[in-house]
Amino acid sequence: MATIKRSFNNRTCEAPYLIFLGPPGSGKGTQAEKLQHSFRLVQLSTGNLFREHIKNETPLGLKVKSILANGELVPDDLTVQMVVDRLDRPDTIMGVVFDGFPRTRDQALALQDRLDAKGKCITAAVLFRITDDEIVGRLSARRTCPKDNSVFNLKSNPPRQDEICDLCGGALIMREDDKPEVIRHRLQVYRQQTEPLIEFYREQDMLIEVDATRSIQEIEAQLDEWMPMFIYNANS
Ligand SMILES: [Zn+2]
Repeated sequence: MATIKRSFNNRTCEAPYLIFLGPPGSGKGTQAEKLQHSFRLVQLSTGNLFREHIKNETPLGLKVKSILANGELVPDDLTVQMVVDRLDRPDTIMGVVFDGFPRTRDQALALQDRLDAKGKCITAAVLFRITDDEIVGRLSARRTCPKDNSVFNLKSNPPRQDEICDLCGGALIMREDDKPEVIRHRLQVYRQQTEPLIEFYREQDMLIEVDATRSIQEIEAQLDEWMPMFIYNANS
């Protein structure tokens, strides 16, 4: 009998389906984008999916549009359905990074049920570990140009002249979203809603942690190093 090389922690998944967990500002979106380029994984964010369905006026899109127009939250079953349907498209054959989804334990359970029904599974959940203070420090150093949307960071990527856009010479601003009190609120929501997912995936031996205080390049190198263990190879 041929030896089957199994992927991460003995989970046999056809293609890597990775969940990126971490607070806003932890850099998981940046890394998801990098895996999209280097390993051809699809970066799947529910925000983008909603926008796409609404733009294409699909039946789901029309439903979501009217829900959002009423100022309501899109129910979990609709969100999960949208996500799972997305996995049927051929571009996901190399795998998927779920970026910012699931957000709650209920969503995680629903996702798992729907994937089970399709004979698919989540390979691993990657936790981007960073403290609230580090995130507040990082995001509150961010400056944006209101004219051309250039983004700078007073600590890691400062403009040549203090508070002035390199591109157009205009004054940089701090976006409302980057103000410490707004960040603290978003982090609080994350800690309440999403942090229980860390235990959820840890209990199932699916959690792997990355130190999100490291540089973008260092985190990218770490993920590149891990990728082979997420890839199930039926031929070996
Ligand atoms: Zn500018």
